Amino acid sequence: MNIFEKIISREIPATIIYEDEDTLAFMDIGPIIKGHTLVIPKICYDPVTETPDDVLAKLMQICKRVAAAQIKGLGADGVNIIQNNGASAGQVVPHIHFHVIPRFEGDGHHWNWAAKKYESPAGVENLAVKIREGLAG
Ligand code: AMP
Repeated sequence: MNIFEKIISREIPATIIYEDEDTLAFMDIGPIIKGHTLVIPKICYDPVTETPDDVLAKLMQICKRVAAAQIKGLGADGVNIIQNNGASAGQVVPHIHFHVIPRFEGDGHHWNWAAKKYESPAGVENLAVKIREGLAG
């Protein structure tokens, strides 16, 4: 049983902010910004590519509501919604989850978003071909 399943079953405590028959939202124990919330399905799916479309649609609806509540309730100026897949992407808990992170002007958090450049138009096109093939397959 993963740690989120233990939260769902109330085996370990969490600060729950929303629950319905198939979804749970609770405060992240290690917030990037205070108010950082996690939205999870009660059934464990992992990763996103193995998660049914209807589950993803429901999760995103709850993320939208949590984001609106962070803006209304916390006075957030903006919100990041993030979903990590695989250790290389920073995923730690193997149970699909969305991070909904309230953002405030001057909150001091900066993503390490180091934008790079393609070496040539052919360089970007070569990768685009492979992704298009993946979509078609
Ligand atoms: P990820 O790196 O995308 O797998 O994110 C996992 C998140 O789960 C991290 O932001 C952790 O702080 C959070 N987390 C881990 N254990 C708990 C817990 N017991 N209660 C709340 N959040 C947790």
